[in-house]
Amino acid sequence: MTLDPSPPSDELFLPFVTTVRRDHPSLGIPKLLALLKTQQPEWSVSEKRLRKAVQSLTLDEQGRESMDEPGLVATTGLDPSITSLAASTAPKVKVRMFGGEKGKGLVARERIHKGEVVWQEEPWIVTSSPQLYSALLGKQMCSHCFFLFSRPSPPMSAPCPHCDQAVFCNRLCASKASSSSHPDLLCPGLNPAAQPLWKLIRDTNGRYLETAAKIVAKWRWERELGDKGKAKEIEQRVWNGMARVSMEEREKEKKEWKLFAELKRGEWKHAHSLLLQALNPSEGDKSYKVVQKLLTKASKRSPIPLSEGEIQRWFSMDSFLELLGLAALNSEDSGGLYALHAHLNHACEPNIAALNLSKAFVPPSSSELPCEVPDPSQSGPRGTNKLTLLARRTINPGEELTIPYVNFNMPRGDRRQMLRESYGFWCDCPKCKREEGKEREGDDLATSSKESTREMIDKMKSMQMFQGTGEKVDAR
Ligand SMILES: [Zn+2]
Ligand SMILES: [Zn+2]
Ligand SMILES: [Zn+2]
Repeated sequence: MTLDPSPPSDELFLPFVTTVRRDHPSLGIPKLLALLKTQQPEWSVSEKRLRKAVQSLTLDEQGRESMDEPGLVATTGLDPSITSLAASTAPKVKVRMFGGEKGKGLVARERIHKGEVVWQEEPWIVTSSPQLYSALLGKQMCSHCFFLFSRPSPPMSAPCPHCDQAVFCNRLCASKASSSSHPDLLCPGLNPAAQPLWKLIRDTNGRYLETAAKIVAKWRWERELGDKGKAKEIEQRVWNGMARVSMEEREKEKKEWKLFAELKRGEWKHAHSLLLQALNPSEGDKSYKVVQKLLTKASKRSPIPLSEGEIQRWFSMDSFLELLGLAALNSEDSGGLYALHAHLNHACEPNIAALNLSKAFVPPSSSELPCEVPDPSQSGPRGTNKLTLLARRTINPGEELTIPYVNFNMPRGDRRQMLRESYGFWCDCPKCKREEGKEREGDDLATSSKESTREMIDKMKSMQMFQGTGEKVDAR
């Protein structure tokens, strides 16, 4: 027995419209209706009801579904230290400023073969994925390079002498840690005021908060070293060299923003206050002397007070939100922020794979090229936080190097929506364009074959009704 179509409830209808509209942003109301009829034949929906639902959706989202709307433009510039980094670690690559929404990117200087290692890079700000927290706290993993030990705290390992939160493979990892993964200013043993911040990071899987805190701690330390430090370089890299957008602007892109805006603002305020307490406590605060003492240790003299400009730049709420946004745009799952890798733009058909390979991986020699890109799941246990950038196919001189920011096997609509929400742009890469063309064709075919007869009948009906009653009515 088949039931006659009946009107669906709003609870069923509106979410369906949202999804269909997202997957087919370019379809007009008549074609959306045709699609709805094929996908939900048991529903009876008038064009008027559909139009109303689509309009409310568009109003709700303040036009965010509109394809003409410009993407969130991330602030970016050129970082002089990157040019020299590219020259020394990735000689076949150069940094190029494309301008416009696209900003900058990396292009090939010369031909790169499939399977070739284009470069390898260690993170300059080390943060772990929350998935590693239990292994890290259980001392099963190096807190700097994330090498997984065969058993907790093996004989050659070096624990942090000041706290029980970090253990390193060996002295080399321990010494690298002091300027990136486990800075003195954030070691809870040396600076107890950092403990509440760490608790918040662990409790909320706050990777971006960890990144922001480590950037500020790194700058603050180098700033104290004066001429000997790299404060200027960090300043250039963070504020001129890396794409960033305020976390608040980024979150506003989400549909549910209005529902959780107050909650989010409260959380950011709290996190910001814990960061200040750990890294720039006011004179009345009990951690003030502790931090002064640590800074004195760095420079072997009394700390020079920060200028108003420095406080604004590194410790204001606005800057904090910008740093969270920077972390969200640039973090790599394997190990945090990578200076050169952060310059790669997205494509849904990327020509570069960014992989975290096992320690046993040996880059193919030139005589072995071209070759297949190794499968990380097959290459043995997880290695270190070193990122290996390999060519997925032959790349010609002048061609831009690209990686996927999201799973590029997702359907076009989901992929683009995720890119828009997480990275602030509507992808318009060749694959997206091609698939859009195919979808249109598919929609046209579906409409013309299945719907044409019904549409014609509907049209005739509506014309008759229009003539009969003298007012415009729905076909049903
Ligand atoms: Zn420590
Ligand atoms: Zn290590
Ligand atoms: Zn795309």
